[in-house]
Amino acid sequence: MTKMSEFNIALIKGDGIGPEIVNGAVTVLDAVAEKYGHKFNYTDVLMGGCAIDATGVPLPQETIDICKASDSVLLGAVGGPKWDNCPQRPEKGLLGIRKALGLYSNLRPSILKPQLKDASPLKDEKLKNGLNVMVVRELTGGIYFGERKNAEDGSWASDEERYSVEEVKRIGKIAFETAMLRDKRVVSVDKANVLDSSKLWRRTMDELAKEYPEVTLSHMYVDNAAMQLAINPAQFDVICTSNIFGDILSDLSSAIAGSIGMLPSASLGASKCGMYEPIHGSAPDIAGQDKANPIATIVSAAMMLEMSFGLIDEAKAINDAVDKVLNMDYRTPDIYSEGMKKVGCKEMAALIAKNI
Ligand code: NAD
Repeated sequence: MTKMSEFNIALIKGDGIGPEIVNGAVTVLDAVAEKYGHKFNYTDVLMGGCAIDATGVPLPQETIDICKASDSVLLGAVGGPKWDNCPQRPEKGLLGIRKALGLYSNLRPSILKPQLKDASPLKDEKLKNGLNVMVVRELTGGIYFGERKNAEDGSWASDEERYSVEEVKRIGKIAFETAMLRDKRVVSVDKANVLDSSKLWRRTMDELAKEYPEVTLSHMYVDNAAMQLAINPAQFDVICTSNIFGDILSDLSSAIAGSIGMLPSASLGASKCGMYEPIHGSAPDIAGQDKANPIATIVSAAMMLEMSFGLIDEAKAINDAVDKVLNMDYRTPDIYSEGMKKVGCKEMAALIAKNI
């Protein structure tokens, strides 16, 4: 039994398919609550295009306040062509909420489900040992937040890559702790053969590793890591890396896993309150048609149960239910192939809920 059984969850449904997929995740969370005797209290808050329509801004203060007061945030997706020419774009809400909640790490698991291995661009031979990698990316430091300079005459520009020991330590801790729940292997990715910031990164990770004697730490240069992901992805358990390298490597690992509608992510900070969301966007092309795949959001909710609420068995129940439904050959249109049973977003969520 878990210590606490009541949790407050802020729901940012957002735009496009956002409401459909978040509603699907709520259907599954309700089934978990019923089976395990928990209570999940949901509060809908506005962000993105719908917030611009209702309040004029993509991230109203009320949304920040409610998210901060919640145990966790579950996000669908924001944005769409309707708001492309707005002075403040909906996606600005995303950066704003990450900043407001102090979410300095982004965790993206890429798992290749055997039922969907045809969706991967890699050959069967490269996937024979599977793919189950967690990319832990630093989210609020490095070159994306470093000082930018431009020559007055436009002849040069520069961006600064800067990391402090503290910044590396806190993301490293997340990586080691994540590895403790998995296969206890961390590959720290850097460019320490060239960059001083990477030398500091490597030194700090080595120092931190002493606190986690059960975890094996190794180092890899980022160019090699990209190559290794493409030729032997099964060798990785947890990858820990900087903002820019993580941006690139997490997209690569997601692409190897295949369908965009299947992959979750978590953003975590100093507190247990994290933000959980699918890696895909608001898919305006299929919005409101009950065609969206809710699985990425449903497994994001499973990550929330595990990482923010410590509900390990409940998270496993969700992942097992997803596997069961896929094994029964149910598929949303994005992962459909001949001979399978085509279902919509609502039915897929209901099937997963029924199998909790
Ligand atoms: P997208 O991920 O929304 O869609 C890309 C393609 O994948 C589309 O064909 C879409 O139909 C399909 N797709 C995505 N999710 C799916 C799902 N769950 N089920 C079935 N098919 C799915 O990317 P995009 O088209 O580049 O962006 C659309 C909008 O989403 C833009 O406004 C963009 O800025 C925004 N966006 C938001 C987020 C976010 O909220 N975190 C992330 C990425 C993009």
